[in-house]
Amino acid sequence: MRSLSRPVHAAGLIVVAACGWLPATVVLGVLGIVVTVPVWILWPVAFCSVLTSVAGCLLAARTGTAEGRTFWRRLAGALTVLAAGTVGQAFDTVRHPTQAVAMSPVTGALYFGAVLLAVLALLRLPGRGRTWQARVTLGMDVAIVGVASGLVMIQGVDVMPVPVADGLLATALRGIVLGVATAAVVAVVKVGMSGGGHVSARALWILSPAGFLGPLAMILAVVFQPWPHLAPTAVVLPMLAVLLTSATRAQVRSDGTGPAVAQDVRVDVRHRGISRVPYVSVGVTAAMLLTVTLHYGYLPAGLAAGSVVLILLVLVRQHAALRDNGLLADRLADQARYDDLTALPNRRFFTDTLHGRTGATTVAVCDLDDFTALNDRLGDDTGDEILRQAAERIALTVGGSAQVARLLGDEFGVLLPAEHPLAGGTRLAEALVHAFQAPLPVGVHDLLVTVTVGSAAGRDEVVPDLLRRAELALQAAQRVGANRHQQHTADLDASAQHHADLAAALRRGLELGEFRLVYQPIVELPLGTLHSVEALVRWHPEGGTPVSPAEFIPVAEQTGLIVDLGAWILETACTDAAAWRDRHGEAAPRISVNVSARQLLDPELPALVASVLHRHALPPQQVTLEITETAVFAGGPALHTVRALRGLGVGIALDDFGTGHSSLTLLRTCPVTTLKVDKSFIDELNGGPEQEAIAASLSGIASTMGLRAVAEGVETQAQADRLHDLGYRFAQGFHFARPLPAHDIDASLLATA
Ligand code: C2E
Ligand code: MG
Ligand code: MG
Repeated sequence: MRSLSRPVHAAGLIVVAACGWLPATVVLGVLGIVVTVPVWILWPVAFCSVLTSVAGCLLAARTGTAEGRTFWRRLAGALTVLAAGTVGQAFDTVRHPTQAVAMSPVTGALYFGAVLLAVLALLRLPGRGRTWQARVTLGMDVAIVGVASGLVMIQGVDVMPVPVADGLLATALRGIVLGVATAAVVAVVKVGMSGGGHVSARALWILSPAGFLGPLAMILAVVFQPWPHLAPTAVVLPMLAVLLTSATRAQVRSDGTGPAVAQDVRVDVRHRGISRVPYVSVGVTAAMLLTVTLHYGYLPAGLAAGSVVLILLVLVRQHAALRDNGLLADRLADQARYDDLTALPNRRFFTDTLHGRTGATTVAVCDLDDFTALNDRLGDDTGDEILRQAAERIALTVGGSAQVARLLGDEFGVLLPAEHPLAGGTRLAEALVHAFQAPLPVGVHDLLVTVTVGSAAGRDEVVPDLLRRAELALQAAQRVGANRHQQHTADLDASAQHHADLAAALRRGLELGEFRLVYQPIVELPLGTLHSVEALVRWHPEGGTPVSPAEFIPVAEQTGLIVDLGAWILETACTDAAAWRDRHGEAAPRISVNVSARQLLDPELPALVASVLHRHALPPQQVTLEITETAVFAGGPALHTVRALRGLGVGIALDDFGTGHSSLTLLRTCPVTTLKVDKSFIDELNGGPEQEAIAASLSGIASTMGLRAVAEGVETQAQADRLHDLGYRFAQGFHFARPLPAHDIDASLLATA
């Protein structure tokens, strides 16, 4: 609930009161035409309407910023002086009832003082914070409006009617009224254009017509000459009260706070760019000059001189605007070409430079190893500092004649001309990898951040393609590992093409249903009885030759297609498992399903597994999901998913154990139930003592930790015997069975039943 609701309510009542003085004035004024009334009849109403305005201003002075409050207090002061003036003129009217304009010097001074104080209050209202250029431009806009309206007003002096005979007094009256109106216009224009900042913009716009009430009073004085009780000032004051109290209500409603000062510079730029003030002023002046010239047959000297001043002002103003726009365009162009964080050229600048070159050129793309993990661990500020330091290290390594750019995230590009000492061959890439062998100074720490680099070199028409080639080489290097470099070769292009073709064929194959599952038995030693089966996917593209999963699974991972393919594999394997259970009961094998790293990043995976199990009424203990060590080694969301999967009750097997990080800590952090010891250890059994020692200790670790150990890739009876001696209870391999279609598993179950 806003505490302002009461002042808003009060401000509304004050507006209603101010509006009430208008009909009162009309009724009394008309009455005076019909019957005889005292000449001062309208003055008490005028006095009350001014007091109502004072109340409104004092209410507004209770809201908003300190500067805003001061403005409304000053306005209340000006209105109080005006109220004194109404009292003075009421007495003047009584003393000189027949005079057209009865105004003693004291009353005149009070009126003049009131207007002066109000204009000063407006002019002293601080605008929003702005640059000095913006202030000069604004000053020029105000001067243009001042000169233009001054010219129009001076012209108006001649034609404006006055209630007294032409002479010095008439001219003085015209001068005062027009001067006040010009000052008010200039004040309102200044405030309107610069923005109140501390006063509601709406309130200021409502106030703006107040400047024209002076000239209106003058015209009314001529019209009302036959009726002395119709004092023009008394007639316009209730109108002023309506404007003023409406403005104070707008102020109270807006809570007095102007637009945020911080946004101001941006607003400035936009404002200066599209200011229509000079055009409107010149248009109005031109129309007036045309009218006057046509009327008199010549152009008066004063008007001509004023017009020249106006034209000069507009020219200077436009020159300033054009210069500002030029500066702005330069700044925007710079922003579009440089990176904010490192102040290095960005990717666009880099590619532009590359496309503009023809001579022999070397390009390297340098990626910080494990930057995402570092950034997550140390925070964004440290991450930013690492990037800045890395940029500096690269720039120092390659020197001034090279172009270094930040291409994207933690990826930097280097472009060398032919004459550079590191140009050509792998020198640049080597130098970059070497440069990062020394730690980076980041804050108070020294951090070892290594890089992986891809490079490419060429000349003429090849140059524009060098960035793509270097990035391809970088990806190839990253597939091998970190802290290394790779030079682009034609083979890389061929394999990239092959990769793209394979991805397209995979997508088609998925739509056409070209995939099948086969199941490889996992048996219990020593007798080789069936314990479970591992589902393995097979792909035979239509009209082509079968593609090995070792080839297409990595492509499906990189393209994300593995998510859909994996869902199909899980569904199909569970359908087959449920069918075996229905046909063979207790004798049906459990199933193992491979789940790739990319699938573990999908937060929907546990829900998918749960729903598939539920649909086929498969107990979770019947299903094991095979994951690789590398997929979960870094922890993060993948490990989170594995824990959720284990939470469902399914088994978790670490596939190809011993080939990845082989961290024993992983066996504690990751909820594993089975270790699948990689074929490479089994191959060497009965041969090297080291492999046998590893195979033996892995079996020991598994049994100590209560895990099941499965030996993979068993091809001979000798291996099977040795594994049994080493304590293995489970094995899988061509020696026992090749991967088989589901119906062959059925057949073998029937045979053993
Ligand atoms: P993996 O999960 O380690 O699967 C075992 C691989 O070893 C299978 O190759 C299997 O045919 C092969 N194998 C089994 N016994 C022997 C043996 O005695 N000697 C030899 N030389 N090989 C044997 P496959 O089916 O070609 O699969 C290769 C890899 O592709 C799998 O390794 C797995 O990482 C991936 N993969 C296969 N099917 C799927 C799947 O359905 N989903 C996912 N995500 N990956 C799969
Ligand atoms: Mg497997
Ligand atoms: Mg395996």
